[in-house]
Amino acid sequence: MSDCLFCKIVAGDLPASLVHETGNTLAFRDISPKAPVHVLVIPKAHYANVAELGAADPALAGDVLATAAAVAEKEGVRDTFRLVFNTGAAMGQTVFHVHAHVLGGGRTGFGEV
Ligand code: AMP
Ligand code: ZN
Repeated sequence: MSDCLFCKIVAGDLPASLVHETGNTLAFRDISPKAPVHVLVIPKAHYANVAELGAADPALAGDVLATAAAVAEKEGVRDTFRLVFNTGAAMGQTVFHVHAHVLGGGRTGFGEV
């Protein structure tokens, strides 16, 4: 999708602070962190939200979870993090390329992101 922010990051057309990469997923730091650890995990392929991704490609959805776990490990929050998929504008989704927020590090009780 040429007008999608995160597709542009996948394509290398927009800079990002990469944390982890696999064949079909990418993890990079949120540009406006809401927690000491705040990393976004995306599939490289474009799906608008987690419901679309899960319906179309459950294996890829599993790869996103595995990458989120690898990120948590790398960031030192292996057993203590929150994974959030905002879905729909009314629930705070602003970028319509599915992404998991990996949140953690020194606080508990994170609210909406
Ligand atoms: P959401 O509101 O769940 O759709 O989350 C979108 C997230 O993307 C927000 O937390 C933004 O801070 C983050 N974001 C927006 N643009 C960028 C960017 N260019 N690089 C990294 N994170 C971004
Ligand atoms: Zn996209």
